[in-house]
Amino acid sequence: MTRAFNFNAGPAAIPLEVLKQAQEQFVDYQGAGMSIMEMSHRSKMYEAVNDKSQSLLRELFGIPENYDVLLLQGGASTQFALLPMNLLQPGKPGAYVMTGAWADKALKEAKLVGETVVSASTEADKFMRMPTLSEIEIPGNASYLHLTSNETIGGTQFKEFPETGDVPLIADMSSDILSKPVDVSKFGVIYAGAQKNLGPSGVTLVIIRKDLVENGSKSIPAMFRYSTHAKSGSLYNTPPSFSVYMMNLVLEWIKNKGGVAQLDQINQSKTKLIYDTIDQSGGFYIGCAQPQSRSLMNITFRIQNEELEGLFVKESEKEGFVGLKGHRDVGGLRASTYNAVPLESCQALQQFMVDFQKRNG
Ligand code: PMP
Repeated sequence: MTRAFNFNAGPAAIPLEVLKQAQEQFVDYQGAGMSIMEMSHRSKMYEAVNDKSQSLLRELFGIPENYDVLLLQGGASTQFALLPMNLLQPGKPGAYVMTGAWADKALKEAKLVGETVVSASTEADKFMRMPTLSEIEIPGNASYLHLTSNETIGGTQFKEFPETGDVPLIADMSSDILSKPVDVSKFGVIYAGAQKNLGPSGVTLVIIRKDLVENGSKSIPAMFRYSTHAKSGSLYNTPPSFSVYMMNLVLEWIKNKGGVAQLDQINQSKTKLIYDTIDQSGGFYIGCAQPQSRSLMNITFRIQNEELEGLFVKESEKEGFVGLKGHRDVGGLRASTYNAVPLESCQALQQFMVDFQKRNG
């Protein structure tokens, strides 16, 4: 069996150990005579999976007691809408930090729901950096401040988060959740689609402070209210059971690796290999993000001679690399190095980049 060097942006690599474990349990989950997908979500066995994923998330990410951990559907894009529907109050704008394509989508949804304000924007720098904390202006009457911790397309990442006082801080952590330790207590809400760092697509994680759940809008349909899902332990309706089960296996894998702090160390050494190759290429490769904002999850870069970018993708594919073409909106090249991308894949990419430059530089 040959596994690709998978640098996909999402859905993305899943640890091989996890896939094998799922394969072993696929047709007969723990002697039930059926797979987890065929089981009632009201069964004891599935409830155990649901409970365990929530408790593992609490343990690995240090989620305090006064937060609910919700496992929802609809992807992070649904949260762009549900957050303002639940939390945007009349006369109190939703404040948004504009850092690229994903922040923009979140803001557009909020505009449909109520009043918004842009707290900071790095558009003048083509979104190639995150704002400094002092650039972010938070109106005292804001319903919340929303930011995107890692911009998957631009390849930029916040290295620290603003102090927002009484204004709840909301973060879309879709592309860097559980990649490094985070002080959850600084946030009102953290949300993420699963398909980058948590497993396959299908489940969306929402970590939300309980007072925000309780004070959320009551005049929206039940499925859209966080309180509905909090009250029912994320079992209000049929959950994406296979995705939740897979996430569980990924969480156990993270635990066995030594936890999030350990993954952070590994992620740093993985990305250093690639960023160093860019920086030491004498300008052949050009990093897109400004150095202080470089993402440890999505490395965006270009080749000085643009025509070579197509060749880079083509030749890399022949050598077993997948997903190195940049997002269609921005072009260039991108290597997504999520938790499950092994160091060996990054070493192979580094070698490929060096060889490619030798042939074409
Ligand atoms: N936010 C960010 C930062 C993302 O990278 C993505 C997906 N690439 C989304 C939101 C949208 O997520 P979903 O496809 O789960 O709706």
